[in-house]
Amino acid sequence: MPDTYRPRPEADSSLQHWRTSVVVVGSGVAGLACALALAPTPVLLLTKTPAPQGGSSIWAQGGIAAAVGRGDSAESHAADTVDAGAGLVDPDRALLLAREGADAVRGLIEAGVPFDRGADGEVTLGREAAHSFARIVHAGGDTTGRNLIRSLLDMVAATPSIRVVPECVVVDLIRQQDRIAGLLAFQADDGWVQVHANHVVLATGGIGGLWRATTNPAEATGDGLALAARAGARLADLEFVQFHPTALVPAGPSDGSRLPLLTEALRGAGALLLDADGRRFMLDEHPLAELAPRDVVARAIARRARLLARRCSSICARR
Ligand SMILES: Cc1cc2nc3c(=O)[nH]c(=O)nc-3n(C[C@H](O)[C@H](O)[C@H](O)COP(=O)(O)OP(=O)(O)OC[C@H]3O[C@@H](n4cnc5c(N)ncnc54)[C@H](O)[C@@H]3O)c2cc1C
Repeated sequence: MPDTYRPRPEADSSLQHWRTSVVVVGSGVAGLACALALAPTPVLLLTKTPAPQGGSSIWAQGGIAAAVGRGDSAESHAADTVDAGAGLVDPDRALLLAREGADAVRGLIEAGVPFDRGADGEVTLGREAAHSFARIVHAGGDTTGRNLIRSLLDMVAATPSIRVVPECVVVDLIRQQDRIAGLLAFQADDGWVQVHANHVVLATGGIGGLWRATTNPAEATGDGLALAARAGARLADLEFVQFHPTALVPAGPSDGSRLPLLTEALRGAGALLLDADGRRFMLDEHPLAELAPRDVVARAIARRARLLARRCSSICARR
């Protein structure tokens, strides 16, 4: 358990019992949106970070892709997704996501999330790698995640049916016969808590925080996957990890914490990738050059890094 999640001296040592209709684990965009969608059903929303502003959501910079622009369509967004997926994308799921994603973003616009707008008052759309339309919405430039979470938390605060409990680490799901009847958690002030609920929603984010070099926060440790697997769920597609090919490596010694992201939007706005000789290598790799899909960019960078390491070691060997 990380230090921040350790019990305070006054924490209750006896097991407490809480009851609710729905318990949602996670206060990122998924957990907050789920809790809001369920109102007025009572929801207990638990999150392990000291404040509800945790998880990857607050770090999202480049914006949200959604086919909401004039002339764009969910079909086009889905086709781009399939093209970028190297034959691994389920086209039906891509279309579902593109349709529901566009609806969700329209809903956020209507709910008053402060997405950036142009002089004409319309929401501004940016273009990113592998998209054939400008379809990325931003809020506050590259602080989209932080602004979106702020808006969702304001909506949650105005929703009496949702109770948010921070510093509460969920450690196990409780099974009764064939169903999940609640969960076991540790809350910093209250100690061990058993939550009895009709429904449990795991919105615990990804596993990126497990990598040594990562742009993800420390709390992104795949807890939901582990909880679900232990409770008997079959996990699928674990090999697909969302990642960014470009991050800023600090010049000095690193403390191993998350690296600042060099967002794709930089390349969308014209930033170029150069090798150690100052050559623009992505032109040889993909017709979209710097705007190629992330896996293509990441593999090209890795090849250049290996070449550079080989060059350095042969120079060292000659000396
Ligand atoms: C640097 C960076 C930039 C990004 N940029 C973009 C972008 O531009 N556009 C885009 O679409 N996506 C972007 N992403 C990805 C995007 O942020 C995530 O896909 C999205 O935020 C995931 O939301 P989530 O609610 O599923 O998870 P998260 O926001 O990670 O939330 C997970 C929540 O679960 C809680 N939790 C986890 N385990 C437990 C537990 N055991 N007990 C209690 N609580 C727990 C955490 O505290 C947290 O509140 C970016 C990600 C990063 C890291």
